[in-house]
Amino acid sequence: MPRKFVVGGNWKMNGDQKQAREIIENLTNATLDPNVEVILGVPAIYLPLAKSVLPAKLELAAQNCWKVAKGAFTGEISPAMIKDIGATWVILGHSERRTIFGEKDDLIAEKIGHALDSGLKVIACIGETLEEREGGKAEEVVYRQTKAFVSAIGDRWSNVVLAYEPVWAIGTGKTATPQQAQEMHACLRNWLSGNVSPSVAELVRIQYGGSVTASNAKELAGSPDIDGFLVGGASLKPEFVDIVNASS
Ligand code: PEP
Repeated sequence: MPRKFVVGGNWKMNGDQKQAREIIENLTNATLDPNVEVILGVPAIYLPLAKSVLPAKLELAAQNCWKVAKGAFTGEISPAMIKDIGATWVILGHSERRTIFGEKDDLIAEKIGHALDSGLKVIACIGETLEEREGGKAEEVVYRQTKAFVSAIGDRWSNVVLAYEPVWAIGTGKTATPQQAQEMHACLRNWLSGNVSPSVAELVRIQYGGSVTASNAKELAGSPDIDGFLVGGASLKPEFVDIVNASS
């Protein structure tokens, strides 16, 4: 079965109520390729607003969550709460969570396991830093990051999208070339085949993320192992429509 192209917009900590409405209205009125799954990663505080104006063709993601359902965890939100307001996805392991907030592989794995237990789908992010790439360690790093998720995911890979986001390409305007991205995606699929199962390797969708724009999306989308994008900055702009439609 072909893998359905999946494009996520990660708004990060941007926007206000007005802009949230405008972005969703623009997407509502746009012609989006019906063969593409589109997920909006909206700041938690605006998720209910987004849900109230969201057309059926779009899905909603939180950008983070905690690893238990409720309790004394000031400032956190749980998968149960995310589901309660009608969102169906959560982005976990983003490099900004890893670098700015110090999240490590084992915590991310716990969060992934609990989010899946709670019935959310997960965009699980991985990616190497520039130093790691230049040190010839890019593959080793993304394999380590992916391996950390394996037992938490178990047999629930159909509810997981992997997002390969080289840290040096996030928010920098420096995109991986289609060759660099394809090469890593193919390596990851091969790793999944050997370390999880050939059928998981075949079914799991691997997004590329890192300075994707309307002008580079089409070429990236043409690579056989790139099954979608996770888009930061450009997801706040009208060009997100062209990124969603880049695989058609
Ligand atoms: C991201 O935040 O996941 C991302 C890829 O950001 P940008 O597209 O701005 O590089």
